[in-house]
Amino acid sequence: MGKSPLADAEISKIWICKKCKARNKAGSEKCRRCGYRYLRPRRKELKAKK
Ligand SMILES: [Zn+2]
Repeated sequence: MGKSPLADAEISKIWICKKCKARNKAGSEKCRRCGYRYLRPRRKELKAKK
């Protein structure tokens, strides 16, 4: 409530570094903070957790 749909869109464009948890721009090949290559898209679905 109260949040604009654009906010969700921005979140979906963020990738999280698996190593340092830094936020990176979606499509980045590597973390800009630590250089780690493995990034993952940020999702709302926490139920899909292994
Ligand atoms: Zn990182």
